This record gives sequence, C-alpha cells and structure tokens, in this order.
Amino acid sequence: MKPETPETAAPADAAARRAVRPVVCYPPDTLPPPPMDLFRALRPGLTKTAEVVAPPREAACFSVRAGQVFRITSVEGPQVGDLNLWNANDLGERFYSGKTRALHGTHLSTGDRMWSSFPHLRPMATIIHDTLDWYGFDGFGGSVHDVIGTRCDPYTHCLLSDGGQYHHCCHSNLTRALAAETGLTRAEAEAHVHDVLNVFMCTGFLRETGQYFMKASPVRPGDYLEFFAEIDLLGALSACPGGDCSAEHSSDAAACFPLLVEVFDPAPGALAGWQPPSPNPYDRSHGA
Ligand SMILES: [Zn+2]
Repeated sequence: MKPETPETAAPADAAARRAVRPVVCYPPDTLPPPPMDLFRALRPGLTKTAEVVAPPREAACFSVRAGQVFRITSVEGPQVGDLNLWNANDLGERFYSGKTRALHGTHLSTGDRMWSSFPHLRPMATIIHDTLDWYGFDGFGGSVHDVIGTRCDPYTHCLLSDGGQYHHCCHSNLTRALAAETGLTRAEAEAHVHDVLNVFMCTGFLRETGQYFMKASPVRPGDYLEFFAEIDLLGALSACPGGDCSAEHSSDAAACFPLLVEVFDPAPGALAGWQPPSPNPYDRSHGA
C-alpha cells in the first residue's frame, strides 16, 4: 500500500504529472471479435450431454469438447466458484488470468474470452451468456466474475493465521480434483493449478488504498454463466469455502452451497463455418 506519509517530497509539477490522462493499454478494437451472432443463435438449440456438481468446499472436474457449451449455475444458495481451465490434450496450456484482465478488464461478462498461457495465447472459452450482466459496477467499484483475485489458498492462510492449517481452500480443492481426474500425484497436480476466474464473486479495489475487497455476491439460485469451448477443455470448479464471500474464506464458517456444471451439444450444423482458434502465430524467435 502507498504510505500515508510519504518519505519523498512531491516535486513542483506533481499536480501536472497526476493530471495526465490514462490510456487504455489494449484498446479492444484491435482484438479479433468473437462471432457472437453465431454463439447467440446456437443457444436455443442446445442439448445437454453431461453434468457434474461441485459440492460445498470441494471441487469437481469436467470435460468439454471444442464447439460444446458449458454452463455454471448457482443452486440452493449464493455461492462463489473458482474456475481453472486447461487444454484437455496439454495441461501446459492453461488459463492466463493476468493477460485476460489486461485484455478485457477486471471483471468478465458476455463476449469476453478466457485466454491461454504463453506461447499459446488464444481463446480457450468465450462467455456467451451472463445472468448477472445487469450488475455492472456498484458504488464501491465492485463487480462480479473477476480476474483480479487469485484463489484462496492454504499458504496465505497459514501465513496470516500464525501457522493455521486449513485444507479446503479453492487451491487445495482444485489440486485434489485434478489429481483424482488425471492420476497425477497431488504434488504434480498442484503445479498445474493456476489463478482463476472467480465466478459469481463480487470484488474490487478500494478507491482510497487500492486494497482488494470482496462483498456478498449478488448471485441467487438459477443465475448462471455460460461459455462456448473454443478448444478441447478440462475444467475444474471449486465451490469456495467462503460461500457468497460476504465475510470470510479459508474456514468452515460460511454457509456453502454446491455449484452445477452442465455441458451441452449445439444442434447439428449450428457451427457451420466455425473453426477452433489456431495457436498464436508469433514466430518465437524473440529477436535472436
Ligand atoms: Zn476460494
């Protein structure tokens, strides 16, 4: 955090320097747009093929083929979910929360994409429907579905609680679920767990201090976030021990509810003309 009393005196032109207008780092008009007309048109013709439930304070894995749709739904009560995505054929290609934030902003909604790690940097999934898109940004600067948090984890908890051991943080839930799904050891699986999309979580940064905050999620049973899978995906979703994240996480104190993941096939022919995204065409010479 910035010091309340800086040790360095402000220069004479401090006001002028602060008044320089910001420039958006990645103007969205240069980003190839997703074919939203195609994605919206296929939604009414979806046929459900599979479902999995992430129980409270646990995670579940699910598989989605390129061209399928998956939906994460709040059931039974307000609940936040931590989502990891991998290329189903290469766990080395995984969701890149930081670059997704740089491209789309702090919180995602319809039309935004979940981008993959270097050297791939291509869309893994595109959000095609969001029943919480009405929320926008609240008066605190908060919004839902963030890519600014990381995931609750036992290491930070241990650090902040004088050695406390808690085993149902999203990081651990995702680790156990990935190990069970793939046959990897827990240590191997843990290395593949990465920063998440915080589905339904309501977060922001305090204006005065820049501190990361959370508040009770506005999600209610029946709300959902729906994605088009751009490549073959392995997903893992943790029902965060923080429940609606209104008070605390990294404990069993909050009321927690399951999250439902459903997978759908589009109607035959609905994807005519669609192609999965190619790997990123950068030549990887790095100037050498
Ligand atoms: Zn969590």
